Amino acid sequence: MIDLKNLTIKKAHEHFSKKDFSARELAESYLKNIESKNPEINAYLEVYDDVLAQAGEADKKIASGNFDVLTGIPLGIKDNILIDGKKATSASKILAGYVAPYDATVIKKLKAQSAVFLGRTNMDEFAMGGSTENSAFGVVKNPLDISRVAGGSSGGSVAAVAMGGSLGALGSDTGGSVREPAAFCGVVGLKPTYGGVSRYGLMAMGSSLDVIGPVTKTVTDSEILFDAIKGADKMDSTTHSLNSNLKSLNSKTIGVPYHILEQEGIDPEVKKNFNDSIKKLQDLGYEIKDIKLPNIEYSLAVYYIIMPAEVSSNMARFDGVKYGLHVEGGKNLLEDYLKTRGAGFGPEVRRRILIGTYVLSAGYADAYYNKALMLRQKISDDFKKAFAEVDVIATPTAPCPAFKIGEKSDPLSMYLADIFTVTANIVGIPAISIPSGTVPAGDKNLPVGLQIMAPHDHEPFLFDLGKKFLGE
Ligand code: GLN
Repeated sequence: MIDLKNLTIKKAHEHFSKKDFSARELAESYLKNIESKNPEINAYLEVYDDVLAQAGEADKKIASGNFDVLTGIPLGIKDNILIDGKKATSASKILAGYVAPYDATVIKKLKAQSAVFLGRTNMDEFAMGGSTENSAFGVVKNPLDISRVAGGSSGGSVAAVAMGGSLGALGSDTGGSVREPAAFCGVVGLKPTYGGVSRYGLMAMGSSLDVIGPVTKTVTDSEILFDAIKGADKMDSTTHSLNSNLKSLNSKTIGVPYHILEQEGIDPEVKKNFNDSIKKLQDLGYEIKDIKLPNIEYSLAVYYIIMPAEVSSNMARFDGVKYGLHVEGGKNLLEDYLKTRGAGFGPEVRRRILIGTYVLSAGYADAYYNKALMLRQKISDDFKKAFAEVDVIATPTAPCPAFKIGEKSDPLSMYLADIFTVTANIVGIPAISIPSGTVPAGDKNLPVGLQIMAPHDHEPFLFDLGKKFLGE
C-alpha cells in the first residue's frame, strides 16, 4: 500500500528513482481513492480512461533513467484547461459535447515531462464564483467537512488534492480561485505573476486578470509545478520569461496593511489566526512593518466592474454555432443565439454578462468601466510605493473559513469572500496561500490560509518564505 496521505510530488519522484513503486502502481492507488471518495466529494467531473496507459508511458521513461521531476506524477486538471482530444466544459451546459482540438501550453509542457492526467476537475461555471455552487454539475464538498464548500472556482482541483485524489492540480485564478479554495481545504495555492504562465488553451474569463496556478500539498511542490508551466509563449503575447536576475531569493521585510483588517465582515478568529501567523514570521526573523494601501478598499468594486466587462466580451463566442451546445428551433440566427445561450448559461454567468455589458455601454462606460480602470492604476501605484519599503505583503487569504453549502445565496455576500484575493489580480502580482492552521467553525476546526503577495516576477520570495513558514 502506498501511503498517499503523506506523499508529495517531491517524495513520489524520489520513490520512482529508488524503484519503490511504479507510476502505474501510483496511478492505480489514486484511481482507487477517487473511486471511493469522488461520489461524495464531486471533485472530478470525469476520470480519464487512459490513465494507466499514460502511467505506462511514464514508467518507460523512468526505466530509461532519463526522466523529469513530474514524470509519472498524477495530476487533476481544471475543466477550463484544454487537453487535446478530451472533453472540456468549464462546468457549463453550453459546452456539452465539446472536445478540445489542441493542448493548452501548460498541458504541452506537462506532457513533455510525462505527467499523468487523472481527469478534469469540477469548478464554478466558467470560473465565476467562489464555492463551485455555480457548477452545472453540482457542488464540490469540502473533504474536511462535507456540509461545507471546498471553495472556488477551482474547488474541484483543490478538493482532489485534499481528498487524496491527486498529488497536485492546476486551477485558474482570476480573483482568487486558486487561493481561496486552497485556504478552505488546507493546501497550498499559487497565483503566479500575470503573464508568467501562458493562457493559451485556458478558457478566458477576465483576460487581463486570468492566470493558471498550481495546487499542491507543499510549497516545494508548488515551486516544482510552477517551474514546469511558467515562461514566455509565442501563442500568448501577454507572457514573458520571469526575471531570473532577482537580487536575492529571500525577503526580509513584510508589510502588513493592518487597516484592511478593520473592514466589516472579517471573522475575528481569522484575524486572530493571522496575527499568530505574523508573530510566527517575526520569530522566524522577519521584520514586520505596518503599511498603508490607501486605495485597496476599492479593490472589490474595481474587480467586480472590470471582470464582468471582460466576461461579457469573452462569453460572446458561445453562440450555439462555434462550440458545444446548439438548441434547435430558432427562426433566425438571433433566435438561435438567444435559445442556446438561454439554455446553456447558468444564472451567475448571465448576471455577469448583464453587468458587463451595462458598465461598458456608451452611456455608462465613463461612470463605471473607465473609472475602474483609473482606480486600477491607483491601486497598482499604491503597491509600487509599498514595495519600495517592504519585500512582501501579508494578509489573510479569505475573511472566513469554508462556509456552509447554500449559506451565501446572495451574490454580494459571496463576492465579499474575495476581499483579500482580487487585488493581486488587479495589480498582476504573484500571491500564494499557505495553510496557517485552523479556526473554530461550527463543531469543527477548519483550515484558513495566510496570503503573501510579492512584486511582479518575485515568486521565489513566496516559495522561500512559504517553506520557512511551513518548516519544509
Ligand atoms: N470568486 C471570484 C469570482 O467569483 C474569483 C473567481 C476566479 O478567480 N476565477 O469572480
